[in-house]
Amino acid sequence: MRRRPVVAGNWKMYGSRAANASLVAGVLSGLAPRALRNVEVVVCPPFVYAAELSPQLQSANVGLGAQDVCAEAVQGAFTGEVAATMLREVGCSHVIIGHSERRALYAETDELVGRKTLSALAVGLTPIICVGELWEERDSGRTYEVLGHQLSAVLQTLDSDPAGLAGLDRCILAYEPVWAIGTGRTATPGQAQDVHAFIRGLISSRDAKIAQSVRVLYGGSVKPSNARELFEMSDVDGGLIGGASLKAEDFVAIVAAAELGSERTSCC
Ligand code: PEP
Repeated sequence: MRRRPVVAGNWKMYGSRAANASLVAGVLSGLAPRALRNVEVVVCPPFVYAAELSPQLQSANVGLGAQDVCAEAVQGAFTGEVAATMLREVGCSHVIIGHSERRALYAETDELVGRKTLSALAVGLTPIICVGELWEERDSGRTYEVLGHQLSAVLQTLDSDPAGLAGLDRCILAYEPVWAIGTGRTATPGQAQDVHAFIRGLISSRDAKIAQSVRVLYGGSVKPSNARELFEMSDVDGGLIGGASLKAEDFVAIVAAAELGSERTSCC
């Protein structure tokens, strides 16, 4: 099955009005219209800049993502949090959930990741759900055990929702080995493919159709020089890009690599 690849840029806590304006201008002028038709491109700035970037991105057909969302479905006394409804109102289409930096630095649990996924789905946001193992876990042969745990928690939460597992079809998954994030050390295409196939297999044991349609991105030091070989893997449907999304030229080159990767998948 041909899945439309996704390239999402996670700007993390970087940016300023001036820097964002020049980055967005560079990205929009560099993206070929054809690439935008073939690849779903998403930019995830810090919350405070989302509203002002929304019109420009929307008119260029580029998605706007947030980097987190509150798990509470109803607005209330949750100081510092941002509700899914608010993200929708300012034009967000996507939201990153369970990034390893949030899991490690802000103690986000698998259970919380599940609840955030439901609150995003409830208002029509596309969750980009991140999973990934630490180096020690890979080194001790526990990669699949860890990923199985993280994913099962999300599936279990979806099961508890009236819509059930169907919600997963509206999610994007991102395999982000923690040891590859921001380190310059990338998983090999073979390592990425093995894990992506494992993720698809795990979903398939619950719903074979969703397993075939859900997009699974790779994230972890993706650069223009390694993007194409990663995106050519049959179960890799694009990337979640951190550092390289802050350089317009690099981000545009990574989108072009996703387009080429998808052509190869569809033709062979
Ligand atoms: C990320 O932040 O999700 C990420 C993959 O970062 P980097 O590309 O810098 O490794």
